[in-house]
Amino acid sequence: MMQDITQAKEAALAAIAAADSADALAEVRVRYLGKKSPFTAILKQMKDLSPDERRAVGPAANEAKTAIQEALAAQQEAIDAAHDADAEWVDVTAPGTPVARGSLHPLTRVQRDIEEIFTAMGFAIADGPEVETEFYNFDAVNVPTDHPARDMQDTFWVQTTPAGERQVLRTHTTSVQVRYMQQHTPPFRIIIPGRVFRQEATDSTHDHTFHQFEALVVGDDVSVAHFLDIAQKFFSAFFHADIKVRLRPSYFPFVEPGFEFDISCTKCGGSGRNSEDTAACGACKGNGYLEVGGAGMVHQNVFVAAGYERDRYQGFAWGFGLERLAMMKYKIDDIRHFHSGDVRVIRQF
Ligand SMILES: [Zn+2]
Repeated sequence: MMQDITQAKEAALAAIAAADSADALAEVRVRYLGKKSPFTAILKQMKDLSPDERRAVGPAANEAKTAIQEALAAQQEAIDAAHDADAEWVDVTAPGTPVARGSLHPLTRVQRDIEEIFTAMGFAIADGPEVETEFYNFDAVNVPTDHPARDMQDTFWVQTTPAGERQVLRTHTTSVQVRYMQQHTPPFRIIIPGRVFRQEATDSTHDHTFHQFEALVVGDDVSVAHFLDIAQKFFSAFFHADIKVRLRPSYFPFVEPGFEFDISCTKCGGSGRNSEDTAACGACKGNGYLEVGGAGMVHQNVFVAAGYERDRYQGFAWGFGLERLAMMKYKIDDIRHFHSGDVRVIRQF
């Protein structure tokens, strides 16, 4: 009988070690410790033994039962631990969770596009302060003392300098023109991108803070034809289309003569009509052109303010709103979206 006990114990321990799941282990437990198990059968036979035999077999049977129970518990623990490890297992070939990435603001994209096109045409990029003196913002660029642009209603006036100079948040990037001219001798060609400020009510096409883009070309023999050529090349490259530029006489204090300039409609190509039918194009209201900005030949008074000799040089300057161009390129219908801080706007780019 001692041998039977040893055999049953060995068989049980081997089966326990081979059980690799909780279900298999439960089955082993029933098979070796259950009512119908060989072990239980052995214990039942104990009553037929003599007291001496019982004294020898009893402890052996108990020892075997304890060993089997301990082995079961240890194996259960091992199976549980393996199961936990399974749960932590990572499939390194599975597609990852997308990382939320930022994107460039549409104005930044447009500014970079513009800078790239102009630098390819040999332009340098110039910069100036956003808090500007009245001299550079108005006087130096020939804005008359009584011009309405200087009015409190249109301009943000800020603290006067200790030296008594009146200061403004610059109302246009034209303020950088004379600053640059004082440091450089023609010929040169520059662009001046930057933020400008106007004290005005906001609506879908006006904001108190926006960006301008100024181009300035100065030399011995610069004409309106140069401006037309460069403008046409720039807008065609910017919109990836064959763009025509049209001038209309206008007045700006810093140029003489001055123009408003329009570009052929980026939607209908200048025909003023939708391609499918004869209805008027919605973008240009049927006239085939879109207003973009102002331009003109640099006023000689501006050159004089910069310290150049009068009539020594000629130059053209032109400017337009960056937001307006971005709205045209990306079909954005309200200028206030740009500074709204609404990420739903930005996420589209
Ligand atoms: Zn059109």
